[in-house]
Amino acid sequence: MRRCLIGRATVNNAKRIHLATGNAHKVQEFQRLAEAASLGVEFVRAASMPAVVEDTGTFIGNARKKAAALKAILPPEAWVLADDSGLCVDALGGQPGVESAYFAGPQGDGVANLRKLTEVMREVPAGKRGAYFVCVLVLLGGGDGVEQVFEGRCTGGLRHEPAGGSGFGYDPLFVPDGHTKTYAELGDAVKNGISHRSRAFAPLAGFLRVEA
Ligand code: IMP
Repeated sequence: MRRCLIGRATVNNAKRIHLATGNAHKVQEFQRLAEAASLGVEFVRAASMPAVVEDTGTFIGNARKKAAALKAILPPEAWVLADDSGLCVDALGGQPGVESAYFAGPQGDGVANLRKLTEVMREVPAGKRGAYFVCVLVLLGGGDGVEQVFEGRCTGGLRHEPAGGSGFGYDPLFVPDGHTKTYAELGDAVKNGISHRSRAFAPLAGFLRVEA
């Protein structure tokens, strides 16, 4: 996990943080994480998230772009949180990585992405199916625009066939280390305790507890 402090935070009254995402699953996951952490901070979905082309080639670059796009349309004192995440597969040299949402094409079809990864990995033997999810969070403060960056990872491996009905994206293929079931079989409660997003959220929560 990584935390970069750029500038001095003045987070007084930062009780509401706007989430720069249109992904309902992510919003729900963040809200549950915030409730579980009893932060006293409310995470709200962006009323209208501007379209952002995720073309920087890095997780942090894309997260910064999303955060800046939302911050630009909100009042100056508003706080914004953006994330960028993806699945990095060892046997594919880290792909789909930052392109996870568009692995099967520009339309960003999660079902097609899962199907493509299943097929691409079909001949890769057990023992060479390592992968990890990564999540980078960028928090932009109100007023002075302080930026905080947090990163979380969840390592594991890929099943040969999808299994499980919960979650989204690549959840039915990914088995986190220490478990025998996929993210999609484990369900939201277990996933939220170990996920890349929760591991990036933990130091963010620590920051907000001190500064907010
Ligand atoms: P983002 O919305 O640009 O961060 O794209 C993230 C993409 O990575 C998603 O569209 C999914 O394909 C994948 N992804 C990220 N987090 C998860 C997760 O928790 N489960 C399954 N897939 C995920």
